[in-house]
Amino acid sequence: MSIGIYIHIPFCKSRCSYCDFATDVYRDEARVESYISSLCSEIQNSKSEVQDSVETIYFGGGTPSLLSAKQLEKVLDALHKKFSIQEKAEFTLEMNPATVSLSKLKDFKSLGVNRASFGVQTFNDRALKILARGHDANDARQTFKLLRSSGFENISFDLIGGLPDQTLKDWKKNLDEALKMNPEHLSLYLLEITEGTPLANQIHSKRQPMPDEDLAGDMYEMLVEMVTGNGFEQYEISSFAKPGFESKHNNKYWLFEAVIGFGVSAHSFNGINKRWSNERDTDKYISIIQNGKSPIVERENLSKEQLSIEFGFLSLRLMKGLNLTEYRKRFGRDLMIEYNEDLRNLKNLGLIEVENETLRLTRKGRLYSNEVFATFV
Ligand code: SF4
Repeated sequence: MSIGIYIHIPFCKSRCSYCDFATDVYRDEARVESYISSLCSEIQNSKSEVQDSVETIYFGGGTPSLLSAKQLEKVLDALHKKFSIQEKAEFTLEMNPATVSLSKLKDFKSLGVNRASFGVQTFNDRALKILARGHDANDARQTFKLLRSSGFENISFDLIGGLPDQTLKDWKKNLDEALKMNPEHLSLYLLEITEGTPLANQIHSKRQPMPDEDLAGDMYEMLVEMVTGNGFEQYEISSFAKPGFESKHNNKYWLFEAVIGFGVSAHSFNGINKRWSNERDTDKYISIIQNGKSPIVERENLSKEQLSIEFGFLSLRLMKGLNLTEYRKRFGRDLMIEYNEDLRNLKNLGLIEVENETLRLTRKGRLYSNEVFATFV
């Protein structure tokens, strides 16, 4: 078994109006340096919960592409000292438009970054303004060109649908442009309005319209049609890849494998039954580490029942679905008996299908996945 490593870089140029992540505006260089030093100390002082070699490294955030190559190298040195990293490890860095130059990208490449997760979100300038993304569509086009010119051959686009005022025609235009640019992977999300964010406040005060849920459903249908008809395969509810370009790192989460996280708010799972997470506030995180303490603020031993439920949800996110025989062997539970009536109802509603001992969501079920998952809680 191999593991994944997640590194959280909390800094962004500015804060997007819908964002609820543990992020922080990039204020001063010295603070970023302190964070990087703290991150390296955390890695060095971590007690190895798992000894396996590292198959994937993922720098997420925040906006990890704001780091300098030197800062990235420092974190990588710390990782190399602590872990055995496979020679062909998938190494992803999240990048936002207008945060990288050609020479920086070349430096990232020479440090081993071989996959870019590129936060495009939309090619509509008006929508980018509503989302307060801090870049325009042209920045995304230019940065994509730079990524290609610097030799990135594995690029994933993040797109968001279901935006306030977005029409089906706008959405189609976005998909057309994304497909024309020809990335290797697409992650497509429908906007979720999180209470307390500036966008949620604008919607409550009627300065922005409430996104239309039915329309978002039509957008999902359209995207599956268009994207799968253009050489992509859907392998997870929100993820589409050209053959051979599935995200190995994200697959680790869905396949219930070990991923160890470092940095503020990072979460870890040992691939068996233990989960832990770090302090969520960046300044507190730095000070805890500077005082020689552990940044872990929560530890959880998952019961067999919790494990079986989570394993079930995560497997259902994947197109290959949940193998009922394996599930029975692993958890001693027979879903077809325990949830007989619920499953029959979901089947009648066209949300799930059972075939060759495999339970999976239908296309309609993927759209209403939360309703399906609620059945099992
Ligand atoms: S770039 Fe991403 S992480 Fe940063 S504020 Fe925007 S949505 Fe949040």
